[in-house]
Amino acid sequence: MRRVLLVNALIFAVLAAVVAFAYFGWSNSSAVALRDDQKRLLTDLAQEKVLNIESVVVEADTRLLKAIRLDQLDRLGEQVKSMGAAVAQVFVLDFQLKPVVDGSIAGSSDPKDAVAMRDWYLAHVIGTLKLPQLPLDTRGHHYGRDANNKPYLLSYEKKQLEGRVYYVVIEDDLNHLIMAMFPQFFFSVTHIYQVVDERTTVWFGFGFQYDPDTGAEIAFTDTAEHGTLDGWNVRIMERYPTAELELSHRRIVDAALLGGAVAIILVGLILLAIAIRRERRANELKSDFISNVSHELKTPLSIISMFGEMLANGRTKSSEQATEYAEIIWRESVRLGRLIDNVLDFAKIERGMGVYEFAESDLVEVVTRAIDLANRRLTAANMTLESALDEDLPLVRLDANAFTLAVLNLVDNAIKYAGDGKKIVLTLRRVGPRVVLAVKDYGPGIPLEEQDRIFERFYRAKEMRLKPIRGSGIGLALVQHIARAHGGDITVDSKPGDGATFQLWLPI
Ligand code: ADP
Repeated sequence: MRRVLLVNALIFAVLAAVVAFAYFGWSNSSAVALRDDQKRLLTDLAQEKVLNIESVVVEADTRLLKAIRLDQLDRLGEQVKSMGAAVAQVFVLDFQLKPVVDGSIAGSSDPKDAVAMRDWYLAHVIGTLKLPQLPLDTRGHHYGRDANNKPYLLSYEKKQLEGRVYYVVIEDDLNHLIMAMFPQFFFSVTHIYQVVDERTTVWFGFGFQYDPDTGAEIAFTDTAEHGTLDGWNVRIMERYPTAELELSHRRIVDAALLGGAVAIILVGLILLAIAIRRERRANELKSDFISNVSHELKTPLSIISMFGEMLANGRTKSSEQATEYAEIIWRESVRLGRLIDNVLDFAKIERGMGVYEFAESDLVEVVTRAIDLANRRLTAANMTLESALDEDLPLVRLDANAFTLAVLNLVDNAIKYAGDGKKIVLTLRRVGPRVVLAVKDYGPGIPLEEQDRIFERFYRAKEMRLKPIRGSGIGLALVQHIARAHGGDITVDSKPGDGATFQLWLPI
């Protein structure tokens, strides 16, 4: 019964391990998928931010460029102000790229600084922009760094008035752009952003350590129409690196699962190998058992039929001889009966049926009856049994029939295997919370390495198998089962050549 439970538990455990393996594979692939999804999401978000910023800047600049009327340059300041544009300054150049009189206006810059910057642009930048090649009424842009390494952004357009070409140049107010405009784009509870220039200096957002493995980075577009801050980047990461934490947590769980699964499968395989070995050994023993039992059944039967026939035919010399024959028949039939009892009880136990009927019993009485039953065999074997039974033992809950069978098996074994010792000592006494029944013989004893195995079903000691001593190998297995069913156990203590003592104890 216990074995069936164990095997079922084992099968379950191995199945669970396989399921764990399957889960591991799935979770691993889904973790990778999750990471890919996350990365894609971050990239999309960063892309969206870049597009938003650029379209706002480009739109504002384009609107201002369109709004500036060359025929009303005296009102340039008003025009710029009315657009509310974030510009540092605006200046108009004629076809020779010379500033037009009254065509410069400072926005947010100090007027003196504005003029100085304009002249710097004229000296260093304007000439490189290839303004004459620019199509009419189209915005162009230029991003760069001034003498102080400060970034600047220019937007410009080629216009025409009365057949003459003019160029309108806007210097965007970058600080204002970043401080006033960026915050609306980068408000998020779940993500953190960074806007960095081409030298990876952070201009806006958090000063976090950007990790390209978990975050996403998108560069500002560097095209003529949409371009603004060339070389700048928007970087984005998860605000709470939950994914990372989750991932490392999952890694630990996965490792534990994997280790556990491998361990369970290994243990399962080892147990399976042990079970197979044990089963094979039991099968070998079982076939021995069958031949032993058939032999044991046949021998007394042929003795009975032989002496029965002699008696029936009156082939006896005297009445004493007749009594002797009858006694042989009686002894052999008792023996046969005992064997059949053993085999039947054993079969019941093997099938896991409830075979015991417990009742409060007087142990001394039960043991005395068992000794009585064994007496004739003792006499026939020319052996004596000394018994010392402690008379004032408490009542014990036991199955009297089963217990008698156990005692008879122990005494039978002593008669069978320790006949040369001539003496068996049986004691029954209380030791602490237990009652101990000890059967001591003075026979050949049992080799140490076989002392555990003799309690296995069908097992017979090597030495005994060579002797013509009949046996089935189930006696001690049965005794052990009975003892354990009573909450007790049986042990053997033996030195080879020096007899054996079997101790059967029961709890009180
Ligand atoms: P069986 O007696 O039918 O062979 P048991 O289960 O009663 O089966 O005993 C198992 C084995 O234990 C025996 O074959 C024998 O080798 C050994 N054995 C049991 N009792 C004794 C004993 N008193 N002295 C020596 N060997 C014993």
